[in-house]
Amino acid sequence: MALVYTKIVDLHPSVTNSMIKVICIRRYAIKYGGEQSSIECVEHDREGTRIHLTIPRGQCGALGHIMQEDVVVQIRNFFVRNNNFVRNKTVDNPYRIVLFPKSQMSACVDPDFPLQKFLFKDFNDISAIEDANEEVLFDVIGVLVGKRYIKDQNNVKLIELVLEDARPTLYKVSVGIKFSKKTLSLNLETVKEDSVSDEDINVKAIDEIVTNENGEAWICGTIESVDCSYTWCYMACIRCTRKVAKLNNRFFCGACNKYDGKANQRYMLILNVVDSTNNVSLLVWDKESITLLGKKASEIELKGNEIGHLEIIPKEIESAHIGKTILFKVQLRADIKTLNDRPYIVLKVCNNADTVQKYASTNGQNSEGEFNVQSSQKSFEEECEGLSQITTIPVLSGNKKVI
Ligand SMILES: [Zn+2]
Repeated sequence: MALVYTKIVDLHPSVTNSMIKVICIRRYAIKYGGEQSSIECVEHDREGTRIHLTIPRGQCGALGHIMQEDVVVQIRNFFVRNNNFVRNKTVDNPYRIVLFPKSQMSACVDPDFPLQKFLFKDFNDISAIEDANEEVLFDVIGVLVGKRYIKDQNNVKLIELVLEDARPTLYKVSVGIKFSKKTLSLNLETVKEDSVSDEDINVKAIDEIVTNENGEAWICGTIESVDCSYTWCYMACIRCTRKVAKLNNRFFCGACNKYDGKANQRYMLILNVVDSTNNVSLLVWDKESITLLGKKASEIELKGNEIGHLEIIPKEIESAHIGKTILFKVQLRADIKTLNDRPYIVLKVCNNADTVQKYASTNGQNSEGEFNVQSSQKSFEEECEGLSQITTIPVLSGNKKVI
């Protein structure tokens, strides 16, 4: 006889003999002082109803091993508890499940069990929320366009991310999200560059980007040189990505006011770019440089005197860039009065051959270049030292939590 499982929606604290069959869609460990405190999970049943489940420390070994993401399990002997007093709820369910020493759990082979890993909230819906329930987490998906490390608050490190959705510019919404490093880990370096959709791109000629307003614009240009007046990379703080000073064998970050034993090598490239109308210097930060070069700054192969001399542009970088025609989204600033007052900051790049070809031809791009490219004369290095990529990020529309 087939087992009868209780639906999540029918669970109640006073009913103690329920047996459920659920699939685990989230699983994370909570640690305090380096010691495992519990394993927290989000489950849903065949109907898709979600519930939070806690495996206490004593049961983390045996049950925690069975409970893995995407695995279907059946569970009996568990407590159903009120979910209302839990902070940062993963699920908007009045109840949650807490296991205890007599709980029984076994994994099931059930390939037909539905899996609803995410319930994404639309960016428009998020921005329309007036009385946000700060306690409930939800799922979002978007392109990471910026990040900022917020200082420690009661030992919780917050990272504020700026996400864009994939719609045409008209509907683009940026959302600031914060999360605790304690419960979530996200390798920001592995976030993939998005594909640039046609709707995003309204390419301007280089001649047209001097403006009296702050904003952004796409240009399509051919890289003529990598400016050697500046170093091609810098050592960055492991917390905030700002430039650090090396003191003996340690690195000091002025922004964080902290010393660290290590620092990350990050790109900061000045590219001289031309189109058929003019030439301009562009400052390309780490993320966009990785997109163009396909590797991190620390992975560049250095040869001869390139080793130990950051002011010498490695041949590998030059040969990967020079002669290439790329779409650059640049930050327009009202205070840049003439084209080469200072380098324009690049917000996004697109080196997809088909997309570039489309705009290169419509924009009268001439890969030979008609201009003598001159590097920006004005020193801006001091400003670069204080800059991080966050300076390019538009005003946040609000802070929401996600899982
Ligand atoms: Zn720092």
